[in-house]
Amino acid sequence: MTETLTPDICVIGGGSGGLSVAAAAAAFGVATVLIEEHKMGGDCLNTGCVPSKALLAAAKRAALMQNSSAFGVTAQTVAVDFAKVHAHVQGVIATIAPVDSVERFVGLGVRVIQGHAEFKDGRMVVVGDIEIRARRFVIATGSTPAVPPIPGLDQGPYLTNETIFNLTALPKHLIVIGAGPIGVELAQAFRRFGSEVTVCEAAQPLAKDDPECAAIVLDQLEREGVAMRGGVNVVRVDYASGGVKVTIEASGEQETIEGTHLLVATGRKATTGGLNLEAAGIAYDRSGIVVNQQLKTANKRVYAIGDAAAGQLQLTHAANYHAGLVIRNALFRQPVRVNNDVIPWVTYTEPELAQTGLSEAEARKRGVKIRILRWPFHDNDRAQAERETHGHIKVITKTNGKIIGATIVGAQAGELITAWTLAIAQGLNIRAMTSIVVPYPTLSEIGKRAAIDFFTAGLTTPWVRRIIAWLRIFG
Ligand SMILES: Cc1cc2nc3c(=O)[nH]c(=O)nc-3n(C[C@H](O)[C@H](O)[C@H](O)COP(=O)(O)OP(=O)(O)OC[C@H]3O[C@@H](n4cnc5c(N)ncnc54)[C@H](O)[C@@H]3O)c2cc1C
Repeated sequence: MTETLTPDICVIGGGSGGLSVAAAAAAFGVATVLIEEHKMGGDCLNTGCVPSKALLAAAKRAALMQNSSAFGVTAQTVAVDFAKVHAHVQGVIATIAPVDSVERFVGLGVRVIQGHAEFKDGRMVVVGDIEIRARRFVIATGSTPAVPPIPGLDQGPYLTNETIFNLTALPKHLIVIGAGPIGVELAQAFRRFGSEVTVCEAAQPLAKDDPECAAIVLDQLEREGVAMRGGVNVVRVDYASGGVKVTIEASGEQETIEGTHLLVATGRKATTGGLNLEAAGIAYDRSGIVVNQQLKTANKRVYAIGDAAAGQLQLTHAANYHAGLVIRNALFRQPVRVNNDVIPWVTYTEPELAQTGLSEAEARKRGVKIRILRWPFHDNDRAQAERETHGHIKVITKTNGKIIGATIVGAQAGELITAWTLAIAQGLNIRAMTSIVVPYPTLSEIGKRAAIDFFTAGLTTPWVRRIIAWLRIFG
């Protein structure tokens, strides 16, 4: 070995989670080593959140230009130059990249090593001829696309999130296997650019979301022309010159769909391979590295965070949240406990679909006695002005009014959900949401309206009805 390093913290993986740990540790003046074998910024910057949201933003422009006649605004022709869409997506990545760059982290005082890390034993990681003996290690190695063993799939060129953002020409017919958030977002984007899109899903599309709210998103996709095939098994894939044939089966009947491109979006597999976890006494299984409530692995010197940690939400802000917990625990010895109930998630389709806290189904599964409050976007003046009346808010409270969950489907749902995440994290009662002053006209008013319903639903005497009417006008 040519060099031995002895930092306080050694982080493996320079994606969302790892960079957050390294930046915070360095800010507290702690000696930190960060190891990244591929691109700084990881999945989110290079092949995940950033390119997908940039692509969706371009697709939204295309849809707006085609669908603005109700506002009295019409475009003569709408042309999509997909090579320029690709340049836009890559341009957004390039603009954000310096924040995650080696140069920035070196400037923060982090020793950045570019190479593949693996454990030598329970106290040491090696990268080439450098060995690192740290007080604490943080595994933040992320995930890769989980590719199902479908006969024929590996015999030809299928796309994943790692390759689809490299396309410079628009697919004529994109077949998507998998209708989770990634598959559904990309399906809407490509459809809006003009591709024919077929989505095949073995289970219910958007199965992790509230079915009532997910149905509104799926309905919109179908209206836009995405062919949604839920409850079908993909039994075989054949590649022919210039195209792909996907054979699906439902109720014993087989059907073959012909497309030009195939996207596999069937979930994520935690990156555990190549780390030599056994040598460090770190337990892992198919869902990732086994962690306790403090995100510690079976080796108490080692934490695992983000997509690599088993049983956690695979989201950038979850990885950032984990990073904060690790910093508090490792540097300040504070007791921490990961709480997935306060981590929201959003599917960035139009309409957006946002979830925070418990869904109705989860609350019922836990045996909580609940009240459900709803308010539709079409009863909101701003939504009418914007002609974005599709969707509603659904708030879940305990019978005493304590807010425990919210689902929003509609315009800006991803922005609107934050107030509810705060309410849940702070243990607020629904009364708090009735007493705040919300600017008019904003979509945020739907939350206050739903909250007022907690006190008014079921009250029917004339004077109460007058108070309700008053509250709805001035509340
Ligand atoms: C298409 C798509 C869209 C998404 N959209 C969103 C979204 O809108 N919002 C959201 O919150 N999340 C989104 N996600 C999820 C998000 O990208 C991930 O949850 C997040 O990137 C996880 O961060 P991480 O730090 O755990 O891993 P990553 O960001 O994947 O980083 C892991 C890093 O570790 C490195 N590494 C692995 N093994 C080693 C090793 N042995 N040595 C050295 N380096 C190693 C890898 O090269 C990688 O850079 C999306 C994902 C995809 C695929």
